[in-house]
Amino acid sequence: QPLGVLVLESATAGAFRTADVRPLESVADICAIAIQNANFFEQTRRMAFVDGLTGVYNRRYFEQRILEELERASRYAGGLAVIMLDIDHFKKVNDEFGHLLGDEVLRQLSNILTQQLRRVDVVCRYGGEEFSILVPQTTGEHALGVAEKLRKVIEDWNFPGVPRPVTVSIGVADFPGNGTTRDELVKAADAALYAAKQAGRNRVLAAAASARV
Ligand code: GH3
Ligand code: MG
Ligand code: MG
Repeated sequence: QPLGVLVLESATAGAFRTADVRPLESVADICAIAIQNANFFEQTRRMAFVDGLTGVYNRRYFEQRILEELERASRYAGGLAVIMLDIDHFKKVNDEFGHLLGDEVLRQLSNILTQQLRRVDVVCRYGGEEFSILVPQTTGEHALGVAEKLRKVIEDWNFPGVPRPVTVSIGVADFPGNGTTRDELVKAADAALYAAKQAGRNRVLAAAASARV
């Protein structure tokens, strides 16, 4: 397995002799180990932030990344929205079709989210069947449109093995309208999600609207 190339140059012709090869091989071995360690380190670091089942980011990553995005949004006035999405009656899906199929639904839903969103948007599995999405450089209104698109695509999706629609409820909060800190924004989006469940599920609610429910 090639890990790198060791290149030596000299302005002097014939500067390298066959006898130099041996010690250089030792140097190359040391370099190879260093490169391999760096690769392992990077791989482990990445794995610590990725959800094993779905391949999207995990909650730990979300908690960290939202702080970065908040700082960016306040510095450049770019706007930021948090979308909280929870599958409706997912327990029933598990009960009726089995836990393995439930896992598959989670995987497919994660793919849908990733494919429907922009590269700059950050999809995370917040917990069990709940996802959190960071939508940078956006207004609350635009994020609501994005959330509605996701809701519709999922509702219309044909999940193999599930002979009926899978639906989601979604809460949307935006910076700075619904909060300026991580906790405020997550709480606002969560409250909107809860309100969406209360209002009958399979719907999107904005944080501001949830205050009135
Ligand atoms: P609601 O519409 O109120 O959200 O109802 P719900 O059934 O989706 O919510 P509830 O919190 O009662 O149940 C969540 C279910 O999600 C229960 C749990 O078995 C399932 N779940 C959580 N994580 C996983 C997972 O990794 N795989 C599978 N297959 N199921 C999971
Ligand atoms: Mg649920
Ligand atoms: Mg849930």
